[in-house]
Amino acid sequence: MVAGNMCQKDLQIADLHAALEMVKSLSVDALATQILDIGFKCLGCGECCSGEDNSVVVFPVEVRNIQAATGLGWLEVVRPPDAGEWDKDGCFHTLEWRLKKEGASCRFYEDGRCGIYPSRPGLCSTYPFYLDEGVLQYSLCCGIGSVIEPAEAKELAERVRCRSVLELTEAIALTEKFEDFERGKSSESGVCVVHDSEGPHRIYGAR
Ligand code: SF4
Repeated sequence: MVAGNMCQKDLQIADLHAALEMVKSLSVDALATQILDIGFKCLGCGECCSGEDNSVVVFPVEVRNIQAATGLGWLEVVRPPDAGEWDKDGCFHTLEWRLKKEGASCRFYEDGRCGIYPSRPGLCSTYPFYLDEGVLQYSLCCGIGSVIEPAEAKELAERVRCRSVLELTEAIALTEKFEDFERGKSSESGVCVVHDSEGPHRIYGAR
């Protein structure tokens, strides 16, 4: 059983490394050409920062960048998401951090703009674009189809590739450090364990 689990974990890590190498080899110029063809300009509608679907995944290095820029504590920047599983002791386990919200909006959305723009996470600096198995995709956004300058498209393409490299690097470290647990039932203990690329973090009263 243990050997089987280790083997599966090794395979997952090997697949992630292969995906990482593939993304690193992608041509930024080719991605920029696709972005130019699709077209994009932020029209400032705020939907991505304040709409119902606003839910920004953030990695530890990005949390620290935001902390350095704002002086905020970790749990003032991020929260565990609602999706996860319970262990036999009633602790809630999840695999990622999300930016904190105030109501429906990101807590950093102020007066119709991003209050941490230079430190915003990769998901925000590349929105609405992302890579799915190395293929450029985009989310619904009213700015899609607008004219974009070649230099801007190239900068955006570079950020899209960097974001994917970070996501895969984080996934590798998370998979390496993750220790599985025996599943159980939900409880009101309030203890939450967030597993990330740095290992498990136990937090109290977050739920
Ligand atoms: S960090 Fe900035 S860009 Fe990202 S969702 Fe929040 S307000 Fe919007």
